[in-house]
Order: sequence, then C-alpha cells, then structure tokens
Amino acid sequence: AIETRDLHKSFGAFKVLKGVSFKAHEHQVIAIIGASGSGKSTFLRCLNFLEQPDQGEIHFKGEVIRISDPRRPPRQQIERLRRRTGMVFQQFNLWSHWTVLENLTKVPIQVHGVPRAEAMARAMELLNRVGMAEKRDAYPAALSGGQQQRVAIARALAIEPEVLFFDEPTSALDPELVGEVLTVIRGLAKEGRTMIVVTHEMSFAREVSDRVVFFHDGCIEEDGLPADVLKQPKSARLGSFLRSVR
Ligand code: ATP
Ligand code: MG
Repeated sequence: AIETRDLHKSFGAFKVLKGVSFKAHEHQVIAIIGASGSGKSTFLRCLNFLEQPDQGEIHFKGEVIRISDPRRPPRQQIERLRRRTGMVFQQFNLWSHWTVLENLTKVPIQVHGVPRAEAMARAMELLNRVGMAEKRDAYPAALSGGQQQRVAIARALAIEPEVLFFDEPTSALDPELVGEVLTVIRGLAKEGRTMIVVTHEMSFAREVSDRVVFFHDGCIEEDGLPADVLKQPKSARLGSFLRSVR
C-alpha cells in the first residue's frame, strides 16, 4: 500500500534517516520499534511529508513521489498522499478551540468539500465506534488523555484514509488509560486496515502486528514476523534492545 525506497533525511549536518527502504502491504499492521533517537518518528513524519525527506522515493497507490529537489516538493502529489493517510500522534494534537464533533467535521467539510450532513453522520458513527459519542460537544481540555486519544483516532478515520500512521499513541497516557486506546487500535487491525504503528508496547507488537520492523541509527536493522523478530532476533543490537525493554 505504501513503500519507501532509499529514503534519506538530515537535520543540518545530522543524518537521521540513512536510506530506508520499506514496504507496507495492504491490510498489514506493522509495528516499528527501536531505541529513542533511532529515527522512528522522523520516518513516519516523512511518510506523509510532515517532514520533507531529502532523497529517495515514496510509492503510494501506483504513484511515485521522487524526492529529487527538497526545495521543490511535488505539492500536488503530497496533497493527494495526505488526503489518503491519517496520523495519530503521541500528544493527541486535537484542536483545543473546537468541540469533539468539530474536530471530526471541520476539515472534511471545509477542506475536502464533504457535504455537512454526510460529515456529521460519519463523525457520529466514528465517535460511537470509539465510545465517545456522548462527548460530542465537549472541548478537548475537558477530556481524559485516553478519551482525547480516542477522539484523535476517530478524527484520523474521518477522512477515510487508506493507511493509518500512529506515533506512540499510548506513551503519553496514564497506565490505566492505555488499555482503552489499544482496544480501539486492535479493533481497527481486525477490520483489516493498513496501519503503521511506532510503539514501545512490545506486547502490542507481538499480539496485534503482522510484521515488526526494528530501526537502528536511521536504518532498518531487522524486519520480519513478530514471532521471529521479537523471539529470535538475528541482530545483536535488536537482542540487546529487546532485553532493555523487557
Ligand atoms: P523516540 O523513541 O525518542 O521518539 P525516535 O526514534 O522517534 O525517538 P526521532 O524523533 O525520529 O527519533 O529523532 C531522531 C533524531 O533526529 C534524534 O536525534 C532527534 O534529536 C533528531 N531530530 C528529530 N527532529 C529534529 C528536528 N526537527 N531538528 C533537529 N533534529 C531533530
Ligand atoms: Mg519518536
């Protein structure tokens, strides 16, 4: 569904991604793991151009985005990619001056031209799905972290994305709120959605993902089935990473 070839990204002289080639097939749930600073978030942000990559290619739905000149990003291609991908962040990033319902409907109505009634109906259906329909008129500040994250997931779904990206969706939550968010993500996985999830939750990676990708120092060091990657790591670095998080 989405693929990168030899993706590079630096901040100044500091190389963060050093040639990442990666492919997510349709309906796959891929967990990305790796030490802090290994480039996981930067990779996810490059996938939908929240960061502009320096070099490489992104393939999405039969289209190739070639990053030849980072000063001249292919605007229309980026817009098409963004419209078909959804992102959920660690810090929820809901719009604080909009209600829950407005968070789900404003962009589809105002940016994507979805008719108001249709956007409202879809938003309520999604809020029901994540158990947040009763809070439709609340502002984000009045919600718990777990509730905000469930709204953020519903918001990502509101544009009907073909791929969902999650960047440590539970790591800002109090431990007792992690379960309700993981339950929602598990449900999406069961529906067969294509998802790329950066996570520190090894149990989630083991139980929910179809594939685990281990990042080390801006490269993919290991990529395979959860049972292999998490239980029989080939790379010594992955072995020591897994010992450090257990
Ligand atoms: P974590 O597990 O802590 O979230 P990560 O694997 O997501 O780590 P990144 O956030 O991708 O790591 O960061 C990789 C490296 O790039 C880090 O050394 C970070 O300091 C650096 N970096 C990230 N964003 C920027 C930026 N906007 N400007 C400069 N350096 C950055
Ligand atoms: Mg990160």
